[in-house]
Amino acid sequence: MRVMNALAGAVLALVLGASVALAGERPRPLPIETVAPGDYAHFGEISLTTPTNQGDIANLGIIVGRDAVAVVDTGGSVEVGQRLLAAVHSVTDKPIRYVINTHEHPDHVFGNAAFGPSVTFVGHHNLPAELAKRGSYYLGSFREALGAAAIAEVRIIPPNLLVDGETTLDLGDRRLRLTAWSPAAHTNCDLTVLDETTGVLFAGDLVFLQHIPVVDGSVTGWLSVLQRLAKLPARIVVPGHGRLVAPWPQALDDERRYLTALAADARRLIAAGVPLARAVPEIAQSERGRWALFDDYNPRNATTAFSELEWE
Ligand SMILES: [Zn+2]
Repeated sequence: MRVMNALAGAVLALVLGASVALAGERPRPLPIETVAPGDYAHFGEISLTTPTNQGDIANLGIIVGRDAVAVVDTGGSVEVGQRLLAAVHSVTDKPIRYVINTHEHPDHVFGNAAFGPSVTFVGHHNLPAELAKRGSYYLGSFREALGAAAIAEVRIIPPNLLVDGETTLDLGDRRLRLTAWSPAAHTNCDLTVLDETTGVLFAGDLVFLQHIPVVDGSVTGWLSVLQRLAKLPARIVVPGHGRLVAPWPQALDDERRYLTALAADARRLIAAGVPLARAVPEIAQSERGRWALFDDYNPRNATTAFSELEWE
């Protein structure tokens, strides 16, 4: 009897051990906040990608309609994508119909592989070409930042539903207005998602708050897109980076001021005949202290703006 009990105890311990291990492997849901009924946001860290944060540096969205769910961006690793999926399951058991990618940057698309083959991936009509051009470069350049094991899981998954101009998706009593912007602004494939039911705009990286804007497309293009973006009938915006929801269109003020300074300083120094290397440390210095990660990205933005405007 004593032997039997010991054996039963050992078996129980094994079963418990196994279940603890399984629970440990189950992804922890990303923390999310309700921004409006049926609209949720996860706010990523204001940081560069590191092995510790696993690329959890961008804001992600979940939109729940009567029949189905859309997610907006998937995070900077498959682990973050799996945790986003767990967050969806924590608020609804409706199926995920759409995974919408706002542009091609790794912190927005590297989690795509967490979502099964039954979802439709949605993006700007330029997104497939951008991913084809830069996907393998991103896998190489993010190996150190994420770690080899995390990179090995990433799949570059292009959209199979392309947006040219405007498209409406309906999740059931929940119409989403998707706008593919041009010309190049933050990137060459910027897409926004407006929930027409609640007035929540998921802006991707066309809107930065707190985190310095990053110019990977065109500074003049971005300023021209901002004029039209401001006219979207939104109420509040979830930015691509920055840990807050902000009123619309006032949310664009800081970013517009930064981009305007970037372009104006670059033009002035070009006109004065100052060479690139001496101009870059002077461009947009009036914005120092107003943005997180200023020294990480301002030199690169200044270089981009100078190179772009030199040929104006
Ligand atoms: Zn981006």
